[in-house]
Amino acid sequence: MRGLMMDRPLLISSLIRYAAEYRGAAEIVSGSPEDGLHRYTYRDLETRSKRLGKALERLGVRIGDRIATLAWNGYRHVELYYGVSGIGAVCHTINPRLFQDQIRYIVNHAADRVLFLDPGFVPLAEELAPHFPKVEHYVVMTESAKMPRTRLENALCYEDLLAAESADYEWPEFDENTASSLCYTSGTTGRPKGVLYSHRSTVLHAMAESMRDTLDYSMHDVICLIAPMFHANGWACPYAAALVGAKLVLPGQQLDGASLHELFEAEQVTFSLAVPTVWLGMLDYLRKSGKRFTSLKRTAIGGTAVPLAMMKAFDEYGVNVIHAWGMTETSPLGTVCSLPPGVAALPADERDKYRVKQGHGIWGVDLKLAGPDGGELPRDGKSSGELLVRGPWVAAGYFNDEEATAAALADGWFRTGDVSTLDEDGFMTIVDRSKDVIKSGGEWISSIDLENAVMAHPDVQEAAVIGVRHAKWDERPLLIVVAKEGRRPDKQQLLGLLAQKFAKWQLPDDVLVVAELPHTATGKVNKLALRDRYGDHLLRTA
Ligand code: AMP
Repeated sequence: MRGLMMDRPLLISSLIRYAAEYRGAAEIVSGSPEDGLHRYTYRDLETRSKRLGKALERLGVRIGDRIATLAWNGYRHVELYYGVSGIGAVCHTINPRLFQDQIRYIVNHAADRVLFLDPGFVPLAEELAPHFPKVEHYVVMTESAKMPRTRLENALCYEDLLAAESADYEWPEFDENTASSLCYTSGTTGRPKGVLYSHRSTVLHAMAESMRDTLDYSMHDVICLIAPMFHANGWACPYAAALVGAKLVLPGQQLDGASLHELFEAEQVTFSLAVPTVWLGMLDYLRKSGKRFTSLKRTAIGGTAVPLAMMKAFDEYGVNVIHAWGMTETSPLGTVCSLPPGVAALPADERDKYRVKQGHGIWGVDLKLAGPDGGELPRDGKSSGELLVRGPWVAAGYFNDEEATAAALADGWFRTGDVSTLDEDGFMTIVDRSKDVIKSGGEWISSIDLENAVMAHPDVQEAAVIGVRHAKWDERPLLIVVAKEGRRPDKQQLLGLLAQKFAKWQLPDDVLVVAELPHTATGKVNKLALRDRYGDHLLRTA
């Protein structure tokens, strides 16, 4: 027998409609080098998102079409989140820090029809446009008086598009499983993989994310989203903030400690989300300036492990760190380290042992550990294996990529590539990574791609790139090579070769020439052994 309850679709437009209706006066404040500090309300946000939706329909955009963004965190970007998904098209956020070849691959693979860009990305788009045969329009996110001169054909002005439309529009209703947004993750090789979210997954995730023991979103909060909106839907913050009607603050490009602190104080920010590298800058600024926070109560930190020292530093400022783990493929929230009553009451030293864990599962996300043969490992806090997850906001595959999909899934579970333990209470701790990637300041660097490129050098016999600890960026790549007989590879030459193919921030920080590399029983380079031996190389040589 079926339940006799209304079958209303879970749509992203319901979030902005709710915020506009019940928290219509709450503000969205955003900083941009172009406009200074801009502020308006959820009511304005919904009105303008509707006008954007109508403008897209006028451009011929239909349900399922991919609409790309190259933009920092700002109010127009939020309008795209709602306007694009709201009409049933797919909001495809692109990471502008990626190497140009990757951006080219992503735009073509997604078959984006329209590309929205901040004015600062016009030169990048001009360079890439000849390689984007499917992009029909470039929309520069500015007003006509500030429209930059551009070689882009079909360049349109964002504010002109909106000005031509009225807000007289009802958000359409469609199946909640319709695709809503798309985000590529650069994973183990240079070929990025697209995670295609749905309206249903996004709304359910926003509800779970805002729960008290998850990130605890409330209409009483002033939330500053520092994590980029092109990374896993800005950690889904723009959705969760609307769901509760919280004031939202978007910092634009100014992410140094001093600028962020000034913004936090001016807007009385209570809660903020970012990777550890950003917080290091903030803590450094506070130490040097002697300043404190008058409103900040908590921060959600994830993307890489949060060091205990950082949590303790925030303790001193009266700010609670919520350590969270997730992935682009998990929308992104998978686990969160909120402490249950028994643990919260423990003496500080005992409590700290829990705080550094990546956290417990949240409702909606199932976790399990798989051993080398795929069998499930016990939850004893000691056995470590690959972490598998499943749930309504976990990816069931990659967009138009059967090979990557097949590799990522096992019996209905998603393979995270993270090696972890689970204890009896369901607390998860990441102990290693089986995927061959380096995460530097929240951005991925593929070790395999660097290795393949350096192997092209005539002096190199064998090469391995590993992630080693770094005080600011968490991890940085270290290149270790074995020379061909009679050859002496030159560090600068090797780096020069890589610089032709990789962005500057992706290049190894150092190059070591060694007599031989350790190997596993199956003949692969033993990266675990290399990390054990050289893990502190940059800390030692700094
Ligand atoms: P991304 O898809 O770029 O968000 O990266 C997801 C990956 O970041 C995970 O699979 C982990 O390897 C890593 N990660 C995310 N959060 C944490 C955390 N709290 N501690 C350690 N690693 C993390």
